[in-house]
Amino acid sequence: MKLAIYPGSFDPVTFGHIEIISRAAKMFDKLIVLVSVNPLKPNSFTREERLEMLSETVQVEGFDNVEVDSYDGLLIDYFKQRDADVIVRGLRAVSDFEYEFQMAQANRKLCPKAETVFLASKSEYTYFSSSVVKQIGMFGGDIKDFVPEYILGRIANRLKK
Ligand code: ADP
Repeated sequence: MKLAIYPGSFDPVTFGHIEIISRAAKMFDKLIVLVSVNPLKPNSFTREERLEMLSETVQVEGFDNVEVDSYDGLLIDYFKQRDADVIVRGLRAVSDFEYEFQMAQANRKLCPKAETVFLASKSEYTYFSSSVVKQIGMFGGDIKDFVPEYILGRIANRLKK
Protein backbone atom coordinates (compact mmCIF):
# COMPACT_ATOMS: atom_id res chain seq x y z
CA MET A 1 0.00 0.00 0.00
CA LYS A 2 1.40 3.38 -1.01
CA LEU A 3 0.70 6.09 1.53
CA ALA A 4 1.29 9.71 0.56
CA ILE A 5 1.23 12.87 2.66
CA TYR A 6 0.34 16.27 1.21
CA PRO A 7 1.47 18.82 3.81
CA GLY A 8 0.73 22.52 3.74
CA SER A 9 -0.66 25.52 5.57
CA PHE A 10 -3.99 25.47 3.67
CA ASP A 11 -4.69 28.94 5.09
CA PRO A 12 -7.27 28.63 3.51
CA VAL A 13 -7.61 25.75 1.05
CA THR A 14 -8.05 26.92 -2.58
CA PHE A 15 -9.02 25.28 -5.89
CA GLY A 16 -5.27 24.98 -6.53
CA HIS A 17 -4.84 22.72 -3.48
CA ILE A 18 -8.03 20.77 -4.26
CA GLU A 19 -6.83 19.96 -7.75
CA ILE A 20 -3.57 18.59 -6.36
CA ILE A 21 -5.49 16.54 -3.75
CA SER A 22 -7.72 15.10 -6.45
CA ARG A 23 -4.80 14.06 -8.66
CA ALA A 24 -2.64 12.72 -5.81
CA ALA A 25 -5.57 10.68 -4.44
CA LYS A 26 -5.69 8.83 -7.75
CA MET A 27 -1.95 8.12 -7.70
CA PHE A 28 -1.70 6.60 -4.24
CA ASP A 29 -3.71 4.11 -2.18
CA LYS A 30 -4.17 6.63 0.57
CA LEU A 31 -3.48 10.34 0.90
CA ILE A 32 -3.21 12.29 4.13
CA VAL A 33 -3.71 16.04 3.78
CA LEU A 34 -1.69 17.39 6.67
CA VAL A 35 -2.25 20.84 8.12
CA SER A 36 1.22 21.73 9.26
CA VAL A 37 1.97 24.37 11.78
CA ASN A 38 4.81 26.50 10.45
CA PRO A 39 6.10 28.85 13.17
CA LEU A 40 7.66 31.13 10.51
CA LYS A 41 4.36 31.69 8.73
CA PRO A 42 1.63 33.66 10.50
CA ASN A 43 -1.79 32.15 9.76
CA SER A 44 -5.16 33.86 9.37
CA PHE A 45 -7.24 30.77 10.12
CA THR A 46 -6.86 28.60 13.20
CA ARG A 47 -5.79 25.02 12.90
CA GLU A 48 -9.36 23.92 13.67
CA GLU A 49 -10.81 26.17 10.96
CA ARG A 50 -8.34 24.89 8.39
CA LEU A 51 -9.02 21.28 9.37
CA GLU A 52 -12.77 21.83 9.18
CA MET A 53 -12.61 23.40 5.71
CA LEU A 54 -10.42 20.58 4.42
CA SER A 55 -12.65 17.89 5.96
CA GLU A 56 -15.67 19.46 4.33
CA THR A 57 -13.83 19.60 1.00
CA VAL A 58 -12.91 15.92 1.22
CA GLN A 59 -16.50 15.01 2.07
CA VAL A 60 -18.20 17.15 -0.57
CA GLU A 61 -15.74 16.23 -3.32
CA GLY A 62 -16.08 12.55 -2.39
CA PHE A 63 -12.37 11.86 -1.94
CA ASP A 64 -12.78 8.40 -0.40
CA ASN A 65 -9.14 7.58 0.24
CA VAL A 66 -8.21 10.97 1.71
CA GLU A 67 -7.73 11.65 5.41
CA VAL A 68 -7.22 15.07 6.99
CA ASP A 69 -4.92 15.55 9.98
CA SER A 70 -2.71 18.17 11.60
CA TYR A 71 0.72 18.09 13.19
CA ASP A 72 2.74 20.55 15.24
CA GLY A 73 6.13 19.01 14.80
CA LEU A 74 8.53 18.22 12.03
CA LEU A 75 6.89 16.80 8.92
CA ILE A 76 9.42 14.00 8.70
CA ASP A 77 8.60 12.79 12.22
CA TYR A 78 4.95 12.52 11.23
CA PHE A 79 6.01 10.81 7.99
CA LYS A 80 7.94 8.19 9.99
CA GLN A 81 5.16 7.72 12.55
CA ARG A 82 2.67 6.97 9.79
CA ASP A 83 5.19 4.84 7.89
CA ALA A 84 4.42 6.86 4.77
CA ASP A 85 6.09 6.46 1.36
CA VAL A 86 5.73 9.78 -0.41
CA ILE A 87 5.46 13.51 0.27
CA VAL A 88 3.36 15.37 -2.30
CA ARG A 89 3.90 19.05 -3.10
CA GLY A 90 2.51 21.28 -5.80
CA LEU A 91 4.63 23.43 -8.09
CA ARG A 92 3.16 26.58 -9.59
CA ALA A 93 6.16 28.42 -10.97
CA VAL A 94 9.93 28.46 -10.99
CA SER A 95 9.74 30.64 -7.88
CA ASP A 96 8.37 27.65 -5.92
CA PHE A 97 11.16 25.43 -7.09
CA GLU A 98 14.16 26.48 -5.00
CA TYR A 99 12.39 26.22 -1.65
CA GLU A 100 10.64 22.99 -2.57
CA PHE A 101 13.86 21.44 -3.84
CA GLN A 102 15.65 22.35 -0.59
CA MET A 103 12.87 20.87 1.52
CA ALA A 104 12.85 17.66 -0.51
CA GLN A 105 16.62 17.28 -0.07
CA ALA A 106 16.44 18.07 3.65
CA ASN A 107 13.62 15.60 4.19
CA ARG A 108 15.53 12.88 2.37
CA LYS A 109 18.58 13.59 4.52
CA LEU A 110 16.45 13.16 7.65
CA CYS A 111 14.74 10.05 6.29
CA PRO A 112 16.32 8.38 3.23
CA LYS A 113 13.04 6.63 2.42
CA ALA A 114 11.21 9.94 2.00
CA GLU A 115 10.51 10.51 -1.68
CA THR A 116 8.96 13.85 -2.67
CA VAL A 117 6.66 13.91 -5.69
CA PHE A 118 5.91 17.29 -7.31
CA LEU A 119 2.70 17.81 -9.20
CA ALA A 120 2.65 20.67 -11.66
CA SER A 121 -0.24 23.02 -11.14
CA LYS A 122 -3.02 23.10 -13.71
CA SER A 123 -2.36 26.15 -15.88
CA GLU A 124 -5.45 28.10 -14.78
CA TYR A 125 -4.44 27.69 -11.13
CA THR A 126 -0.79 28.72 -11.35
CA TYR A 127 -1.45 32.12 -9.78
CA PHE A 128 -3.78 30.78 -7.07
CA SER A 129 -2.52 30.97 -3.53
CA SER A 130 -3.93 31.34 -0.05
CA SER A 131 -2.29 34.78 0.11
CA VAL A 132 -4.12 35.98 -3.01
CA VAL A 133 -7.43 34.79 -1.52
CA LYS A 134 -6.65 36.58 1.75
CA GLN A 135 -5.69 39.83 0.07
CA ILE A 136 -8.86 39.91 -2.04
CA GLY A 137 -11.10 38.76 0.81
CA MET A 138 -9.78 41.23 3.37
CA PHE A 139 -10.97 44.09 1.18
CA GLY A 140 -14.33 42.48 0.56
CA GLY A 141 -13.47 41.37 -2.99
CA ASP A 142 -15.11 38.39 -4.67
CA ILE A 143 -13.23 35.15 -4.01
CA LYS A 144 -15.72 32.79 -5.63
CA ASP A 145 -13.32 31.83 -8.43
CA PHE A 146 -10.68 30.78 -5.93
CA VAL A 147 -12.47 28.68 -3.29
CA PRO A 148 -15.45 26.30 -3.38
CA GLU A 149 -18.88 27.75 -2.65
CA TYR A 150 -19.48 25.43 0.32
CA ILE A 151 -16.73 27.19 2.31
CA LEU A 152 -16.83 30.57 0.60
CA GLY A 153 -19.11 32.29 3.11
CA ARG A 154 -17.04 31.14 6.04
CA ILE A 155 -13.79 32.35 4.45
CA ALA A 156 -15.22 35.70 3.33
CA ASN A 157 -16.75 36.46 6.76
CA ARG A 158 -13.59 35.53 8.60
CA LEU A 159 -11.37 37.66 6.34
CA LYS A 160 -13.56 40.74 6.66
CA LYS A 161 -13.16 40.71 10.45
P1 ADP B 1 3.08 25.85 2.63
O1 ADP B 1 3.12 26.85 3.73
O2 ADP B 1 3.51 24.48 3.07
O3 ADP B 1 3.73 26.27 1.36
P2 ADP B 1 0.55 26.13 1.20
O4 ADP B 1 -0.81 25.83 1.71
O5 ADP B 1 0.84 27.52 0.75
O6 ADP B 1 1.51 25.66 2.36
O7 ADP B 1 0.90 25.14 0.01
C1 ADP B 1 0.88 23.76 0.18
C2 ADP B 1 1.36 23.08 -1.08
O8 ADP B 1 0.38 23.28 -2.10
C3 ADP B 1 2.67 23.61 -1.64
O9 ADP B 1 3.37 22.54 -2.22
C4 ADP B 1 2.22 24.57 -2.71
O10 ADP B 1 3.19 24.71 -3.73
C5 ADP B 1 0.99 23.85 -3.23
N1 ADP B 1 0.06 24.78 -3.87
C6 ADP B 1 -0.49 25.89 -3.36
N2 ADP B 1 -1.29 26.51 -4.26
C7 ADP B 1 -1.23 25.74 -5.38
C8 ADP B 1 -1.80 25.85 -6.70
N3 ADP B 1 -2.56 26.88 -7.04
N4 ADP B 1 -1.50 24.88 -7.59
C9 ADP B 1 -0.68 23.86 -7.26
N5 ADP B 1 -0.10 23.71 -6.05
C10 ADP B 1 -0.36 24.64 -5.13
